[in-house]
Formats: sequence, structure tokens, C-alpha cells
Amino acid sequence: MRVFKFGGASIETTERVENMGSILHDYMHEPLLVVISAKGKTTNALEEIASTYFQHQESKSIELFEQLKLNHQVYAQTLLKEHYIDIEEKLQSIYIEVDWILNEQPVRSYDYYYDQIVCIGELLSTLIISHYLTITLGPTAWIDIRDIIKTDANYRDANIDWKLTSELVKSQLSPLFKQCNIIITQGFIGSTDENNSVTLGREGSDYSAAILANMLDATSVTIWKDVPSLLNADPKIFPHTVPIEEITYHEVIEMAFYGAQVIHPKTIKPLQNKNIPLYVKCFLDKHLKGTLIHHSDTPIKYPPILVLKTNQTLLQVTTKDYSFITEDNLSTIYKLFHSCKIKINLIQNAAISFVACIDSHAAHLDELLQLLSDKYDVKRNEHLFLFTVRHYKQEVLREELKNREVLLTQKTRQTIQMVVR
Ligand code: ASP
Ligand code: MG
Repeated sequence: MRVFKFGGASIETTERVENMGSILHDYMHEPLLVVISAKGKTTNALEEIASTYFQHQESKSIELFEQLKLNHQVYAQTLLKEHYIDIEEKLQSIYIEVDWILNEQPVRSYDYYYDQIVCIGELLSTLIISHYLTITLGPTAWIDIRDIIKTDANYRDANIDWKLTSELVKSQLSPLFKQCNIIITQGFIGSTDENNSVTLGREGSDYSAAILANMLDATSVTIWKDVPSLLNADPKIFPHTVPIEEITYHEVIEMAFYGAQVIHPKTIKPLQNKNIPLYVKCFLDKHLKGTLIHHSDTPIKYPPILVLKTNQTLLQVTTKDYSFITEDNLSTIYKLFHSCKIKINLIQNAAISFVACIDSHAAHLDELLQLLSDKYDVKRNEHLFLFTVRHYKQEVLREELKNREVLLTQKTRQTIQMVVR
């Protein structure tokens, strides 16, 4: 059994869905679980609906939602033609989940509403696509993964209940393969034990594919992307990139940790645990070799791997009472970051100050600054980049740092990290 994951870009247009159909056609002689994201930029659009709703701009949120419905209607009609009518009612039943919310005042947390609203992107795309595939390829099964992937109530970054989910995979999902070879489901979403919807963090569909592959003991996972393979750097930022044909789980985790937007960082562990190989392949040309991510006993020689994280802020936290930044203060500061769900990308500490590099758009930043201001003075430096090079070579660094000012550097044998302007 294989698991395929198709992201938003791979199904953005109806031509791309047709192309996806031709890829699946090559593999449909054996059981295949297909995990799909919301199409194109739907998740961003839903995020805006959630935020306008929460800011009490009801008519704005309703208007945006009507646009989103229309956009999906056109997409579905183009793909399904006269068969559109077969799913119209099902689409309505998905819209209703959000209509109800938008017509009432918010009384719970933003993160809760975010998940109830944003989760429908994947429900819509999978419903439309599975119907299209049934018409063109033969029977497929569609499953609402919220009935299978069970989590805690940590909205927007929910944690999987591995035991319960695994039981549900075995009792509800596996048996569907007796009826047909292709099962279509959603990435990115799940639900709590009270059946509230949750999401697993932006770009979380890769992670969903890995969770399900782990529990189904899949032979492999393939992520279909718009690039020929993994590269040693983002080609939109760095002009000279080289492809990586083979890479270990460990190296990919490192890349993702430093901010390379290759694969969702949580994806690797469930695969590594069961030694399931992960392929990255190009949906624009299915014949290209792509990249194999797996465990390898023989060391692989890598080119320098470059990661540039944009929109970074440096926070300098200094004790007001001149107390040292040791275990005591560190644990206080860490707890505050953790309680505000702010991820630290790099830290450095000195006698009475602690420096953290974080994403400038972190959701609860104001709250964090407020909490810190009791005991600490906080200075902020904005518009920065976090530049990481694995397997670095001096000439690469010289070249890349030509026009940049370095504010902070941290270095190990394999990795160098710099906060730059
Ligand atoms: N649709 C979600 C997002 O855009 C999940 C994903 O694409 O993996 O973040
Ligand atoms: Mg995506």
C-alpha cells in the first residue's frame, strides 16, 4: 500500500486535477491512499474569513465566504460538468458548518474558530476531486479524516492521539481497501474527542500523510510537488541550486528545523519509526527521478545546504534587577514563550540578557511582550533574516554574505547560523 500526498499547488487548476488523474492511473492497480490539501490559496482565504469574523466584521467575512463558495462551484462545475449536481448537496452540508459560525457572535477563542472555519478547505477539495476520479478512473472512496485522526484540543497545532487514531485507522480506514484501490482523504485536519475540528499547523498535509502511512504500514509515501526534486536551497532566493537525489531522514529534519520549506517538520518521525521511504516527485513531469528520503547506512555526501528565513525579529530580553540569565530566569522566559506558543528559531544568552530570534508575525507576540515586561526590559530588532548553512564552505559564506550585515553568529562543525540584515 502506498500513500500519495498532493498539495494545494498540484490541484490549483482543473487542468492540474486532470494531470493528477493521469498520475494516479499509473498506480491504481494496487491500494493507494491519496491525501490532498485545500486547493491553491484556499487556506489563506479561509484564514482571512476567520480573522474578519473574529474582529466582528461579519459582513466582510460573509462576503469573502460567498466568494470562496463561488470559486469552488466554478472549479467543480468545470471538472465534473453534468455530474456536478451529484455533489451539490454534499458541498452545501460542508458550507453550512461555516455559515452557522459566521452568523453568530464569537464566544470562544480565536484558535478554536480558526480551526472550525479553515478545515473546510480540505473537505471541499477532496470531495470534488474524489468525485472526479470516480467518474474518470472508476470507484474511489472518500473519507472524512476527522472521524479517524483524533487529537487533543490544542487548536491550530493539535497533538495526535496515536493509540485511538491507530485503532480507528485499522477499524474504519483499512477495510475500505476491500471495496476499491483508491481512498481519498484530507491532509491537515482532525478532530477532538468532542468532535470539534482541529488543524495540525500550516502545511500539515505532509504530516497527515506520514501519520496514516505509519499506521497503515505503507510501503512508501510520495509527496508530489512542483519542483523536480529537493534542492540544496530555495531557487526563488538563491540563483545557483543543485538537486539532491538522496538524503537521510536526519538531514531533512535538520533542514526543516532551520526553516527550509521542503516538507512539514513533523513528517519525518512517523516515517523514520517504521523505516518507510519518502519520495518527493514532480507532478509537472512524473517521469523525473525526484528525491529519495530514507535511512542510509553509507554516508551521503551533501552540497552546502542553504536556508534563509525571512521576516525575523530579534528580541533582546534583559533582567531589570541585573540578575544573571541562568536556570532560574531561563526557565521563566522559556515558559512565557511556550505559553504564548512562540517558537524560538535561535537563542544566545549573555550575563544579564537573553536574545531570541523569532518569526516577526508570531500570533501572540504582543501578549508575550506584555508578560515579559514585568521582570525584563525588551528591545526589538525587526526586518531581519536568519541564514543557516549546513555543510558550509568558506567560499559559499563569503559569496552569500557579500551585501549583508551580520548581527549574530552561531557555529558548530556542520552548521553555521547567522542573523543578518
Ligand atoms: N492547506 C493547508 C495549508 O495551506 C495544509 C497544507 O497545504 O499542507 O497550510
Ligand atoms: Mg499547501
